[in-house]
Formats: sequence, C-alpha cells, structure tokens
Amino acid sequence: MDKKLIWEKCVAFHGHECGGLTIGYQAALYAIQLLELAFSEDEQVVCISENDACGVDAIQVILGCSVGKGNLLFHMTGKQAFSFYNRTAGKSVRLVLKKKPEAMTKEESFAYYQSLEPKDMFDVKETKLTLPEEARLFDSYICECCGETTGANWIRLQGGKKLCIDCYASYNRFDV
Ligand SMILES: [Zn+2]
Ligand SMILES: [Zn+2]
Repeated sequence: MDKKLIWEKCVAFHGHECGGLTIGYQAALYAIQLLELAFSEDEQVVCISENDACGVDAIQVILGCSVGKGNLLFHMTGKQAFSFYNRTAGKSVRLVLKKKPEAMTKEESFAYYQSLEPKDMFDVKETKLTLPEEARLFDSYICECCGETTGANWIRLQGGKKLCIDCYASYNRFDV
C-alpha cells in the first residue's frame, strides 16, 4: 500500500491539502490496521462520523464509505471522532482525535498531523453506537398537502392527514 499515492487520491477528491483531511486520512489508515480490513468483496466497512468536516472526504476515498451506499453515517457531536465497523468480522472501533499542542497556525497543525503515526494521533475507544440494520426499503406515501411522494418513515400525521415533514412543519407554524 503506497501511502503517498493514497494521500494524493484524497487531495484530488477533496480539492486541497489540509490538516482536517489529514485527520480523516490517518483515521482511515488506522481503522484498516485495527479492524484488519482486507477489502474482500463481502467485507463491509461502515463509518459513523461525528462531524462533517474535511476529514470525511479521506474516509470516503480510502474506505469506500459513502452516503449513497449507506455505509457512511453521521452522528453529529462536532467531535473529531469516527467509529468504524467491520460487519463481516463483527469488529468495531471508535477513534477520537487527541488534543494537539496549543497555538498552532493552520500550516503548523497540517505539518504536525502529517508527521504523526495514527496511533499517536487518536485515542482508541469502544464504539457506543449500534449500527442500524442494513438499508431497507420502506413503503412510500403521497403527502396529502403537497402531493409529493416520500418514504413512510418521513410521514407525519396531522389531523388525520399524512404529511411530509415540510408540510407538517408549516402546519405547526400556523398553530402557534
Ligand atoms: Zn480541507
Ligand atoms: Zn408535503
């Protein structure tokens, strides 16, 4: 595995080099190591990211996690923390970025994160979130207000009517 090549792919996808991208890059490489990922066909890596910053792009590139495939999920806490799950092996790990030295410029923290080994960069913790079941297809309904179709889990009931969440929200505004 050529680390330099992987890094270049991440930069090409993200559009620039930065400390944030480095965080995701290092987290993904560490996850490969810790979860013994070999990228066989039936192996499914799932990532739950606790932020939607630059680093997530590196995780998409390296681990193939994506929103569309359903193996990139968000649990927003604003933390530089990522949980990785190897569904096939039943292994998981949560990586939390360690505190960096204070008063670093953007350039300094980029160089700092680039210089670290993943194990010096993250605390390894146990995952605390359980993965949702694999993507299921839900029934869909037509909103009785705007006439647009949406999935059953997005439908809200208001006065006996099935509404999409946008219409439900505007109904509630007039109630107040
Ligand atoms: Zn960036
Ligand atoms: Zn509607």
